[in-house]
Amino acid sequence: MEPSVPRPDRETTGVTLELVIPMYNEEEALPRLLDELAKTFSPEARAAHRIDRVSCLFVDDGSRDRSVQIVRDAADSGLGMAILRLSRNFGHQAAVSAGIAHSTADLVAVMDADLQDPPACVLEMLKEWRAGYEIVNAQRRNRKEGPLKKLLYAGFYRLWSWLSPIAIQVDSGDFCLMSRRVVDELNKLPETLRFPRGLRSWVGFSQTAIQYDRPARSAGQSSYGWRALYRLATDGIASLSLRPLQLSQILALLYLLVSGVGIVALLSNAFRETDIRTQLNWMLVLILLGNGLILFCVYILGSYLGRAYLEVKGRPGYVVEERVIVAEPRGSKGP
Ligand code: UDP
Ligand code: MG
Repeated sequence: MEPSVPRPDRETTGVTLELVIPMYNEEEALPRLLDELAKTFSPEARAAHRIDRVSCLFVDDGSRDRSVQIVRDAADSGLGMAILRLSRNFGHQAAVSAGIAHSTADLVAVMDADLQDPPACVLEMLKEWRAGYEIVNAQRRNRKEGPLKKLLYAGFYRLWSWLSPIAIQVDSGDFCLMSRRVVDELNKLPETLRFPRGLRSWVGFSQTAIQYDRPARSAGQSSYGWRALYRLATDGIASLSLRPLQLSQILALLYLLVSGVGIVALLSNAFRETDIRTQLNWMLVLILLGNGLILFCVYILGSYLGRAYLEVKGRPGYVVEERVIVAEPRGSKGP
């Protein structure tokens, strides 16, 4: 999507940048991330990219290890550091949403804590923002995962895009850069079950993507098991699209049509020559097919109903226990 309005003023203006980083038991990965952030956003780099201030907003999603302490100890990295501590583990998407909701800078980038989203890409994204785009996605050209996971990720994004009524960027996760304009619109959305990468497409504005190779996790373990990935994928589909419900309606109509033809054939005695065992077998096939279809439609209906039930209760997606300012951001001229 082309930038809607060319913004020549963006070439020269200084900006404030905030990195929203969800973390859950990341004590092994954080030291390397903090090093990398300090290097990537050194005073020289900030001056070269006309970034007035950089701050990192770590969203602690109920870590039970030393993650919070490690960030607290990084007060003299030269970057602004704050921790938004959630009262328990609410999940990755809730943590990202919490960070976006509490961000204040002109530009907000979302990235994982395990260096799978290289901080240097944010500087590339910044160039696209300067070219006039409001949202810069990071599209994975390649990822370091097993072949099955790779296949499932690729399949999911294509299915999601096919089911979605709006254009979405395939192969891009939460890693992105957004302008304040976009962040404000995202924060106005009333829903509590949030899937930020989908909502980002929903709000519109001019979007583009940079390409990157997603490296393997720098240290520690992924907290996404198969069940969590399945939930993420289905949440993603349900949050943007009603097409699975329409699909179940089409399937129901098709079955009705087949049954109608069967009934007419029965009434017109079309099966009188057919062996009774063949007739029984066909009946069994139709009963099993019908039951399968009903269960499949109930499954689709249930997945929307369950989410609507949670949404209608109106509970917030997360609870903030405290916000800790570890270090104030410094200007681009450095300390
Ligand atoms: N994360 C989180 N809450 C959770 C699970 C994960 O905040 O309940 C964070 C995690 O610390 C990391 C990011 O979300 O910064 C992505 O998680 P992970 O690396 O485990 O997922 P993967 O990259 O394997 O999909
Ligand atoms: Mg990861």
